[in-house]
Amino acid sequence: MIDFLYITSPSYSGSTLLTFLLNTHPEIATIGELKGDSMDVVNYQCSCGEPIGQCDFWNSVVRKMHEKGESFDLADKWTQCGYRVQNASFTNRLVRTRHRSLPFELCRSVYMALSPANRRMFRRVNQTNVNFARTVFEITGKSVFLDSSKDAMRLKYLSRVDGLRVKAIHLVRDGRGGLLSFMKHENLSPEIATREWLRSHLEIREVMRSLDDDQKTVLKYEDMCNDTDATMERLFKFVGVDPAAGEKDYRAVDHHILGNAMRFGNSSEIRLDTKWVRELTDEQLATFERVGGWLNRQFGYDNSVPTAEPVAT
Ligand SMILES: [Zn+2]
Repeated sequence: MIDFLYITSPSYSGSTLLTFLLNTHPEIATIGELKGDSMDVVNYQCSCGEPIGQCDFWNSVVRKMHEKGESFDLADKWTQCGYRVQNASFTNRLVRTRHRSLPFELCRSVYMALSPANRRMFRRVNQTNVNFARTVFEITGKSVFLDSSKDAMRLKYLSRVDGLRVKAIHLVRDGRGGLLSFMKHENLSPEIATREWLRSHLEIREVMRSLDDDQKTVLKYEDMCNDTDATMERLFKFVGVDPAAGEKDYRAVDHHILGNAMRFGNSSEIRLDTKWVRELTDEQLATFERVGGWLNRQFGYDNSVPTAEPVAT
């Protein structure tokens, strides 16, 4: 049985930082987001600094995957670990679309069970995920695999794979911080950005409901930044690894992580990102409150705007 840890969250919630922190543990191995993409092996840089095609770690991964009968290719997402159906755009959309209401999910399950191409894809991708985690264990000597892909649907599919013992961390952040990032990076209006944040969390919640209590936990981004040691101790206990064994300086550990640009920074300082307090206008805050305030409060954030800078560690 493979211990498989998953981070699920909307974008811009701090999942890259959490990935680095978890990866400091001698029993936890990760490459970041395992859902895969077709990468330019000459120009795409691994977090170790090498182009991914030149990275020893990734070259070992590819070689060992081939030894297991996988056609794994860094330049070809169709051979990787994501749930995608090639040459069938409708089916592919259906597989990848968000988690919806129960009637929709029942229709999706029936359709997917009836389609031979779909069944073949699930068998192949399930096996590729298992083989990938095994490969990383062989290379690193570690025993818990972390996938920080974030998508709720991927979590749902993985939680049904024989041979994986899945645990999930639902990462939440004050939605007003997420709002600013969504608006900036995706060029969305405050209303659409808030709806995106809201839909993403509701989908995650729906999928998390199907997991047992000991398979899931909720983590606040702000706790991770303000009280990193205690937070990581709690998470390591949840994962089932020795909480005392994590490395405090997360940059001191070797990483081969794919994902956002934070992976190239040199600083180990963990600083709470509070730009939203200064940059969001009253009107934008009011839009957020109208659309998503209720969920933010359920996560434990009140609707006041902090005036002092929070303590950074
Ligand atoms: Zn590397």
